[in-house]
Amino acid sequence: MNCGSDKVIYMDNNATTRIAPEVVDAMMPFLTDCYGNPSSMHTFGGQVGRAVEEARGKIADLLGAAPEEIVFTSCGTESDSTAILSALQTFPEQRHVVTTRVEHPAVKNLCESLTQLTGHKHRVTRLMVEADGTLDMDRYREALSEDTAIVSVMWANNETGVIFPVEEMAAMARERGILFHTDAVQAVGKIPINMQENQIDFLSLSGHKLHAPKGVGILYVRKGTPFVPFLNGGHQEHGRRGGTENVASIVALGRACELAGEKMEEENTRVRALRDKLEKGLLAAIPKSMLNGHPTDRLPNTTNVSFEYVEGEAILLHMNQYNICASSGSACTSGSLEPSHVLRAMGVPFTAAHGSIRYSLSTYNTEQEVDFVLEKMPPIIANLREMSPFWKEDE
Ligand SMILES: *Cc1c(COP(=O)(O)O)cnc(C)c1O
Repeated sequence: MNCGSDKVIYMDNNATTRIAPEVVDAMMPFLTDCYGNPSSMHTFGGQVGRAVEEARGKIADLLGAAPEEIVFTSCGTESDSTAILSALQTFPEQRHVVTTRVEHPAVKNLCESLTQLTGHKHRVTRLMVEADGTLDMDRYREALSEDTAIVSVMWANNETGVIFPVEEMAAMARERGILFHTDAVQAVGKIPINMQENQIDFLSLSGHKLHAPKGVGILYVRKGTPFVPFLNGGHQEHGRRGGTENVASIVALGRACELAGEKMEEENTRVRALRDKLEKGLLAAIPKSMLNGHPTDRLPNTTNVSFEYVEGEAILLHMNQYNICASSGSACTSGSLEPSHVLRAMGVPFTAAHGSIRYSLSTYNTEQEVDFVLEKMPPIIANLREMSPFWKEDE
């Protein structure tokens, strides 16, 4: 099958990323020749086990962690669930969870299901955000209580790229003896992370947001943090996560983390400049357009722009004709007319939230691609507005 990846202008890297060619090279032997079980006693399996440990070391290096603090999982979602449910089992008497209104569904829906899962024994505080997507730290401080088992706050938001001060927040939780988890799926590889310099207990990472394959992730568990496994089974991962290791993807993730470390500088210079050019160009060329999210406390690759009085999904269909891939904060196809929970929490007006487009870049994007998108977007929006009764009224 050929999906035509050479023809697309891919600006949807917060949804998933291309597997780096170097990463494919690194994982291939483990899909073919090196098929041993890492737990086997024989050399054939043992050498595969060593490759897993090498990958663990590379991931630990990118995070400033110790290798034994890395637990391999099947995805970011599993890591998020593992951390939160572990804390609740560790502290069965503490029945309060603090999180935000803008978490990824992996955390948001787990927390929403908690009260049902446990027969309403749990209470969840979901912190509001400001209009620019940032958190009010006074509200956060007030939310922490004697009863709080864990705080789960994402490092960077997948829809807007807004970065939360999780290190400061983790320190405040630690003072009160509360465990702290961060979903860092969007942050890893884009901004520097050093676990030696903070007091975060759990951190989630996902391979496919980082140029590794889908279906592999890690949970960082700080040394000394109490931990209850999510999957009980074999003794893999020192009993912290049962199941034979997804070796090829683990090796791939190791290589991807190594590359991410090397490319972090480019991400914060060249990719940031491309993102800024795209953002400024769109806002200047298209009337009634606005940025969603804090202008600077943001990932270098993400911009979320609203075009008032047009439907995000209609915009995406028109972009699709030019093979431009991005995402929208509106979700009419899912049957609900509600726009993204993130934009709603920020109080973005309905007319703007419905017409929001998230462009998320990577080191594979070029300036020619940005120029092409800047050429195509203004007529797309103008044509759609011509057909919009709301736009006519406003004019
Ligand atoms: C993609 C994503 C996840 C989920 O990761 P999967 O590996 O797809 O389960 C969790 N959190 C954030 C912020 C994400 O962007």
